[in-house]
This record gives sequence, C-alpha cells and structure tokens, in this order.
Amino acid sequence: MLSEIRLYNTKTKNIEEFKPIKEGEVSIYSCGPTVYHFAQIGNLRAYVFADTLRRMFVSAHYNVKHVINITDVGHNTDDGDNGEDKMEKGSRREGKSVWDIAKLYTDAYFKDLIALNIPIKDYIFPRATDHIPEQIELIRSLEKKGYAYVTNDGVYFDTAKFKKYADFAHLDVEGLRSGARVEENTEKRNITDFALWKFSPKDEKRQMEWESPWGIGFPGWHIECSAMSMKYLGHHFDIHTGGIDHIPVHHTNEIAQSVCATGEKFVNYWVHNNFLIDAVGKMAKSSDDFLTLSTLIEKGYDPIAYRYFLLTAHYRKELSFSFEALDASNVAYKKLVFWCVEHKTEEGSISKHYKNLFKESLYDDLGTPACVAQIWNLIKDESLSDNDKYTTLMYMSAVLGLNLHLAEKEKAVDMPHNVKELLNHRKKSREEKNWEESDKLRDEILNLGFSVKDTENGQEVSKI
Ligand code: AMP
Ligand code: ZN
Repeated sequence: MLSEIRLYNTKTKNIEEFKPIKEGEVSIYSCGPTVYHFAQIGNLRAYVFADTLRRMFVSAHYNVKHVINITDVGHNTDDGDNGEDKMEKGSRREGKSVWDIAKLYTDAYFKDLIALNIPIKDYIFPRATDHIPEQIELIRSLEKKGYAYVTNDGVYFDTAKFKKYADFAHLDVEGLRSGARVEENTEKRNITDFALWKFSPKDEKRQMEWESPWGIGFPGWHIECSAMSMKYLGHHFDIHTGGIDHIPVHHTNEIAQSVCATGEKFVNYWVHNNFLIDAVGKMAKSSDDFLTLSTLIEKGYDPIAYRYFLLTAHYRKELSFSFEALDASNVAYKKLVFWCVEHKTEEGSISKHYKNLFKESLYDDLGTPACVAQIWNLIKDESLSDNDKYTTLMYMSAVLGLNLHLAEKEKAVDMPHNVKELLNHRKKSREEKNWEESDKLRDEILNLGFSVKDTENGQEVSKI
C-alpha cells in the first residue's frame, strides 16, 4: 500500500492528494535548460527541486519516468516571439558555432547535475534539435484542426480558438492587450498568439534551420516541450514541473497546443518552484554577471552543501541567496558529515518513529525544511542508540540526496580551497604511482597546517 503524497497543483491552486494515472507509476516532465550559457545557481534550484520530487516517489516505491528537455533552439530572449534567439546570442558572444555552444553548455549542465547528486542515468534528456520531425508533426495536426495560421514570419497558434487559454494562469487578456507595446508582428490575430514555427530571415542563412511544409525555419520554443513530453510520456501524464516564471507564457502555451492537438487531457499536476533571489532580485542567466556552481566550488563550498541550503527552504517559497546564508548551511552540512564519520556503522536499524515523521513531512507537499529539522531532532534524540541514528540518517540522506554515506574525514575537516586542490593533485599522483610528487605534496599540505594519512579509504586529513 503506497502512502499518501500531497502536492500543490498550480492548475487548481490547491494541495491535492497525488493519484497516479497508472498504479505504482509516475511520469514527470521538467522544463530544462536553454544551453546558451552556464546554468546560474537559481536555475539549479529548479533541478534540485525536480530531483527531490523524483527521489520522494522512488522512496515511496513508485516506478518513475522522468524527462528533462534540453532547449538548444528557438528560445528567444523575451520568452516570446520577439528579441533574439538565445543560442545565436551565445554563438556571437563566444565566436563559436551554435552547435558547439549547445554541446559545451549541455556538457557543463550535466557536470553541474552530477555535482549536485542528480543522477543523470535516471533521467531521459531529449534535445529539441533531435526532435524536429515530431514538432513539425504536431504543428501539422494543429493546422489540420484549424488552430494554426501562417503569417509573413511564421506559423502561429490562434489562442482565441482555445476557449480555456487564460484559465491556467488566470490571465487578464484584456489587460495584456491594452498594456501591449506596438506589436512587431502586425499579422498576429491576438496578443497572446505565439509562434509554432518561425521562418529563417529571407536574406540570411541561420546556423540552425530545417525544411518544413511551411518553409525553411526553426520551431518556436514552446512546441518542443509538448512534442517531447508526449513522445516520451504519452499524451496524458502525471506531473509537469518548472520555475514559476513559466506559468503565464510557456506552460500556458504548452497546454493550449497539447490539448488542442490531441483532444485529450495533458497533465494532471503542475508543480512550480519559486525563485532563488539575491539583493537585486530574481537570479538570472541573462544578467551578464551571474553565479555558477563552479564558482561556489572554486570558493571551497561542497556542492552538496548548496543542495542542503536549497532544501532548507520550501520549494514554493522565494529563497534569498547570500554567502552568509550559504556559510550557515555549509557549517551545518559539515557537522552532519562529521557526525557520520564518527558514527559510521553497519549495525543499526531504522527508527520507525523518525522514518514516519520524515515521510509525513516529505509527503506534505515536499516539505524539505521539516525533513531537515527531523534530521537534527534525530541526532539530538538521547533515547536512540548512535547505531540506529546513523542507519536512520542514511535513509534520510538517500531520500534527500545528501550523500552522507560518502562521509569521509577529509570532507568533514574545514579545509581551505588550496589544501583541497593539493589533496586532489596528490590523489592523482598516487593513482599514477608518482610517489615522489605525492611526498612533495604531503609536505606542502603539512606547511599549510594539515597532516595526511593514507588509509584503505583514501587520504585522511586532520588539522595539526
Ligand atoms: P532556463 O535555462 O532559463 O530556460 O531556465 C531553466 C529553469 O530554471 C526553468 O525551470 C526556470 O523557471 C528556472 N529558473 C530560472 N531562474 C530561476 C531562479 N532564479 N530561481 C529558481 N528557478 C529559476
Ligand atoms: Zn518547457
């Protein structure tokens, strides 16, 4: 018997009991990165949230199918039909082809996911450019049913034909119309209509363009998510996630296209994460100066401490980023690691009481802050043996993706970045059996105030 999971559904604005379409299975689609630049740490909040959602279902014994798309074409800087193609922007910025840009930043994205303990082998990552025929097919079926029309610069979806268009995001279409700038495309029938296919400019060959029944061009941004979610998860699937910025345009358009093309239900639960903000506001990639996970790592933070930081806030609440706040999480996470190093055992058993409290918090709309609080209550609880605490903690860590089973001495010691780097070099030189270099590095580390012992579990470091 599966326990009850409750999630806030943007569609109904209510917390609802989760009921899968197929017993014991859950299908999830998460809007993924536009790979024209590194992910900023705010984007990563969306994926840590999606991964925690996935882990919750796995821990509740569901069979999970989870798709995250890679947007490598068609996403404009204004999220609509104006502005510049983000991929072309990246290409110009770096003097590389769009294809090279896409590869570079897709690889960087996967590296970030791995560092955050988001296991890429457990996901399907379809690329928009690998699914052009599927997108064309979907546009054709919309055209056949009378939902699409052709203008001078592309094929558009006629939102007036979908009566429920404004319902999902509670859009004030009248207000949008009166507040609109002078439209660049005067052939658009309604202010909310959006491009399904854009034509390449007549006097220019784009780096990414394809033949289509309407002319050479490329897909609009929204159609990829309808085409790829339905290809991998079916016309009707359980959960769709993304940041709250996607509600009024991207997800509203996805619903319109999908429902009109198939005539079926599309998604049962729409679950959206709130933003990571800083002193200026929403953290965004488009601001030229943004924080990446690599920068945090270079500054000496463990990426899992960043994951821990994200979990201390509820996914539907705005979270303020500051280095002071991250430091507090870093210290708390290290304390946990240190506790695990000291109490590692294979003898204990999971405390039913704490497992239930933890599950209750988690199943209550993914209440990760309460889960984190349960971890600390567990550790402070004097009525439990350390062995049982450790074993219960391992269960909690696995569900939250905190990697505490990997706790090693060197992780727990508060080490400056340069010492970490020397340790990494030393590890490499030992793997290459370069003992001379390894000894030299040990001395350098010693000079910085840390001693290294080689054990069968690797290098053990302590402060001297
Ligand atoms: P993008 O790569 O810009 O298409 O965004 C990828 C994902 O990150 C989307 O689900 C966005 O909604 C989400 N996102 C963007 N900025 C933030 C932020 N500051 N905090 C949380 N999520 C964000
Ligand atoms: Zn999407």
